[in-house]
Amino acid sequence: MANESANDTARNIGPVILLGPPGAGKGTQAKQIADRYEVPQIATGDLLRDHVGRGTELGLEAAAIMARGELVPDELMYGIVATRLREANCQRGYVLDGFPRTAAQAGWLDAFLEKEVFEKKSEKSQKCPPVVIQLLVDYTELLLRLTGRRSCPTCGRLYNIHFQPPLVDELCDVDESKLVIRNDDREEVISGRLAAYETETKPVADYYRAQRRLVAVNADRPMEDVTAEIFGVIDSHCKDSHCQGGC
Ligand SMILES: [Zn+2]
Repeated sequence: MANESANDTARNIGPVILLGPPGAGKGTQAKQIADRYEVPQIATGDLLRDHVGRGTELGLEAAAIMARGELVPDELMYGIVATRLREANCQRGYVLDGFPRTAAQAGWLDAFLEKEVFEKKSEKSQKCPPVVIQLLVDYTELLLRLTGRRSCPTCGRLYNIHFQPPLVDELCDVDESKLVIRNDDREEVISGRLAAYETETKPVADYYRAQRRLVAVNADRPMEDVTAEIFGVIDSHCKDSHCQGGC
């Protein structure tokens, strides 16, 4: 019994998909999941950079497209994602961050998982359907959190004028330098990113909701509370699915 929880976390969890706007803590939560269940965290941006860096066939193709200022087409991303998901360390599961980004990509992923299971019946991998977790945040709060960021140009210390203000307005506590707003944190940039996220991701959330696979988690809470709830979702997901007891 003492070892039960430790063993529990090393079993198959299958694919975990995290949805959430920038600033909702997706990257942080993805890392927590990866650490606890000992599965890889797969961010498509990193995958792409890795392929380009290693100069693989897919990477060279992607680099040429990006050099022309065009977006990497889905077909190419599918190739890159499929290659990664077939690797040995994805056998028990993985956390996807930044994929699927559209309903079409979600549909591709489903088809891929079904096909792989069909073709690789003897293997113990990928039999769990994906668990899809949506991090819900209040947009007003999120906007304050993101646009309130200030940093000290001298010592690099970070502040938030709403939640962690300096002792004196706009001045660093340590060296009294005038605090600055990074370009990425300007309100118009943030609003743009949030709007783009909404337009882009809503169809993905709708896709999974229609299949009753979307689990919403309130992310306007301390990080560890959110993590605990996510672990609970993953644990009960695996118990509910046919993978229990060793798929
Ligand atoms: Zn400073």
